[in-house]
Amino acid sequence: MKRVFSGVQPTNFVHLGNYLGAIQQFVKLQDQADCYYCVVNLHAITIPRDPQELREKTLDLAAMYLAVGLDPKKATLFVQSQVRAHSEAGWLLQCLARIGELNRMIQYKEKSKGSDSVVAGLYTYPVLQAADILLYQADQVPVGEDQKQHIELTRELAERFNRDYGHVLTVPEALIQKEGAKIMGLDEPEKKMSKSADSHFNYITMLDEPKLIEKKLKRAVTDSENIVRYDPETKPGVSNLLVLYSRFADISICELERKYEGIGYGQLKKDVIEATIDHLTPIQQRYHEIRLSDELIRILQQGAEKANEVAEQTVRKMKDAMGIL
Ligand code: ATP
Ligand code: MG
Repeated sequence: MKRVFSGVQPTNFVHLGNYLGAIQQFVKLQDQADCYYCVVNLHAITIPRDPQELREKTLDLAAMYLAVGLDPKKATLFVQSQVRAHSEAGWLLQCLARIGELNRMIQYKEKSKGSDSVVAGLYTYPVLQAADILLYQADQVPVGEDQKQHIELTRELAERFNRDYGHVLTVPEALIQKEGAKIMGLDEPEKKMSKSADSHFNYITMLDEPKLIEKKLKRAVTDSENIVRYDPETKPGVSNLLVLYSRFADISICELERKYEGIGYGQLKKDVIEATIDHLTPIQQRYHEIRLSDELIRILQQGAEKANEVAEQTVRKMKDAMGIL
């Protein structure tokens, strides 16, 4: 059976990009593979966070994992900081990663915006991410397209470790979907939808109320052509709406293009709004039930125990191979 690992940061909220690009794949994979899904709270502190808020957001995200259909009987759900091996393996791999490699990471360049007052953890973050994945000997890592480069680095580090110290680590591959791997910002469809966007008109969160979803989608940037056609290069806004509709209504994009022949953006937006609200409403109801239950803490404790067993074994092998007593 294949091993799968992935994680999401407990920062702010989960948006449709996280959901369609990554988390929906998590749910599908739990029936086919041995899956480990993590709330990566150690990554969240690469940008200053309020401690109390971080605590809450960590549980919020875990509750969202369950609300979208992850089943603790099928997949192991846990919080990164509750498995110490992540920090330990992160250090071991930092001693293999090269400065030149980290300098090339696009996400670091984007997030640091050239400033050298960002914390060192933001710079070494992709190495901790590699440790997260490699500890579970994952074969596959379901992620959005923006993570492609980090998974490449993970592969490189695993290969380097195996070459230098003997075969210990599985070299994983990224699982990136054909459609929805990069959901674009509603207000700026040339860039990916992001938790760290300046305006809340950039994203729809999984917990946005119907009225707000409607308001945000009505304001979504399109173009002046008024012809519904999928072409991410020249029509990023309309193409993004088509992806959202296609995924939520389970209709292919080709079919949608035919459906909207001679019909303008107004109707398309109405339909996207309806499909999005219909999809999110039951998830939101489940979320609110789960978030307040004691069950959540119990599930995370059990998840951490299981994750610890696997991760401890790997880190021990890594240390043995490196001569670390
Ligand atoms: P930030 O902008 O602060 O990095 P984020 O929205 O990228 O936040 P992450 O927790 O870093 O959120 O990413 C979680 C998962 O969601 C990753 O697999 C990432 O590739 C995926 N993802 C993030 N944004 C998008 C997007 N716009 N479209 C598709 N997938 C996305
Ligand atoms: Mg990200």
